[in-house]
This record gives sequence, C-alpha cells and structure tokens, in this order.
Amino acid sequence: MTEVFKGSFTQQEPIPEAGIEAALAVMRSGRLHRYNTAPGEVSETALLEQEFAAQMGKKYCLAVASGGYAMATALRAVGVKPGDRVLTNAFTLAPVPGAIAAVGAVPVFVGVTEQLVIDLEDLAAKADQADVLLLSHMRGHLADMEALMAICDAAGITVIEDCAHTMGAAWNGLLSGTQGLVGCYSCQTYKHVNAGEGGLFVTDDAEVAARAIMLSGSYMLFERHDAGPPREVFETIRYETPNISGRMDNLRAAILRPQLQHLERQCERWNERYFKIEEGLRETPGLTIVERPETERIVGSSIQFLLLDWSETAVKDVIARCAKRGVELKWFGGAEPHGFTSRYDSWRYVQSPQMPQSDRVLAGIVDMRVPLTFTIEDCSLIARIIKSEVGARYQAGVR
Ligand SMILES: *Cc1c(COP(=O)(O)O)cnc(C)c1O
Repeated sequence: MTEVFKGSFTQQEPIPEAGIEAALAVMRSGRLHRYNTAPGEVSETALLEQEFAAQMGKKYCLAVASGGYAMATALRAVGVKPGDRVLTNAFTLAPVPGAIAAVGAVPVFVGVTEQLVIDLEDLAAKADQADVLLLSHMRGHLADMEALMAICDAAGITVIEDCAHTMGAAWNGLLSGTQGLVGCYSCQTYKHVNAGEGGLFVTDDAEVAARAIMLSGSYMLFERHDAGPPREVFETIRYETPNISGRMDNLRAAILRPQLQHLERQCERWNERYFKIEEGLRETPGLTIVERPETERIVGSSIQFLLLDWSETAVKDVIARCAKRGVELKWFGGAEPHGFTSRYDSWRYVQSPQMPQSDRVLAGIVDMRVPLTFTIEDCSLIARIIKSEVGARYQAGVR
C-alpha cells in the first residue's frame, strides 16, 4: 500500500480563546491605535512590549508592523546610511536583503555551511567590508554565537539579529536575539506567534531604543512607551529622527499577548514533531541530516535536510513524488525564485560574486514546514514517505 498524507502544511492552530476575547474587547472599545487610551489605561501594545522585554530579559522593546520593518528600523537606528555596506547571510529570506535595501544600503553576502549557518571563515574574511552584520538565523539554525560575536567584536561590527525563526530558541542558554545589539522577531502567520503580521524589536541600548521608537512613528508620544528608555534619552533624538510610520496596533497586540505566555510549551511541541521527523529520516541513503549541536536549543517549526550533489532532475523528481503523496517540500536550489524560497543570486538588485561552496549547499537544501496542527503520527508518516521516495530515487541514481 502506498501511504499518502492528507494534512495541510499551511494550517496553523487557532488563536487562543484568551486572545480572541482580548481582541473582541479592543474592537468593542474602538481604541485600536496604540496611543488611543482612556485615562489611566495602558494600551495592549504597550503591555505587549513590557511583557516581551521581560520574557527576553532585555531593557527595551518596541512592537512594529512587521519583522522586515523591525530590521530596517534597527539598521537606521544604529546609523546605517545609504550606500553603506551591510554583511548578511547568503541563505536567508527576501525580507532580509530587502531591509538592507530599504535603507539604501548594500548587502554583502556571507556564505552558508552544510550546517546551514553563516560561514564564520567567510565572515572573518569579509569583516573589514562593513560595520554592521544583519545576522539571519535562517530556518532556526544558530551559528556558534561565541565564535561569531568574537569575530564581530574584534572587528568592531555591530550585530543585528533576525530571529524570525528563532523566537524561543537559545544558544548555550542565551535566548536568541539577546546577544546582538538588537534582536528582531516576526509575528507573521508562519512564525512562532501569529498576528497575521507584526514585528518585535528588543535591545539594551537606550539610544538605539529611543531612535527606533521615534522612527516607528511615535509622534511626540514617546513617553507612552513603558518599555522604552527614560525621557532624557529623547532630548535631542526627538528632533533629529524622522517618523517612518510602522507601528503595531492594539488588536494585534491583544492577539499576541496570550500566545507569548505559552511560547515555551509551543516550542516543546514543535520539537516533539521535529525530532520525530528527524528520527524517521535517519539512515536514508543519499540524504544528509542537518545535525543540531547540543549547545543549541532549537525550535523545530520547520525541518531541512540535504540532497548533496544530487542533480536538479533527481531533486525535482523527489519533490514531485513526495507532492503526489501529500508531502510539500521546498527546494532552495532552483534557478528561479519560487514561493517563499529565493537565494542570494535571485536578488538581482545586489551585485554579488558567485559563491561555489554555498551554491553546492543551497542546491541541496530541501525544506519543510512543521505546523503544530500535525500530530506526532502525521510526522512519522511524513518521514516514511520522504524516506521511501528519497531511497527509491537514490537507488535509481542521483545524477
Ligand atoms: C519572515 C521572515 C522575516 C520577517 O518577515 P516579515 O514578513 O517582514 O515579518 C525575516 N527573516 C526571515 C528569515 C523570515 O523568514
């Protein structure tokens, strides 16, 4: 019997009842704008910021319209100017180079290793080319953060972390997003909390926080940011910083607050699913598991494996066969950008030399979403399907 999976790879869980209730209360009040509060009231957005700052152990938090907006704001707030070069990952998603382009700066891509993290040798080699690294923890893979920070500290590089896939993850006990000067998170539907759209920004740097608050569109209401720095920090910043509106609203904040309370548990549930799939994929000939280091606390909201040195025809064949059996895989090796997947050489607004070692890895990356609506049994079934299709194609030859 040929097994087929019938579930949906794009179906997330419903918003928790507490979030629905809170959203209804905001709508009933009519006060959806973050600065529209009744006397004595603290807005949902301001509360979200306080709670997320505490959860991440950071001094300051700002809630904004998207993860991409948080990153562009971070770049502006640390002083990136048009024409500046900014280091970033060759393996990431389009909003990352897009955030750099949004401030008129120029991405300089750093290669990807077979562990799917930024290549630290390549980073060290390019360290003299820029003052800022927009580090993308793409698909939740954390590089050796001690080694990375040592390279950047020695070269005077400011690190901004893109934690779109690592909210709740940690390296050696330190939460992702807390080691760089700024941590940026996304609340887009497919990330770890779901408000449809949204972004969060954390930092311990008072000036950077003040600039980000002004940039986000606080008018002169910056004192309404309970998770922001004290008034005096805004003294000159408030005259010098443009308002580039990208605020979060109370409706989204209301939906997010209960989700953040359960983040720990959700991360455990993702990992139960991730490791079940990983276990099922082990010992598949031709398939390379991306081994996760013990120092990394992962959040397995997606899984990747490598079909290294397979031909395009063979990879496409596996993807088509899995699709027929209900398993949706994505491939980062395609010459044409597709859906959510694109690669450094698809972003043609950037001049970038080819990176042969990274090209080899990218050509082998197969990627799959792991929504929490999957049961553990679904995960075993999906792994069996992938294993049998990869195995069959390997037998037939991968060139
Ligand atoms: C989703 C995502 C972002 C931010 O995206 P928004 O859609 O702007 O919230 C940033 N980096 C990566 C790697 C992402 O996947």
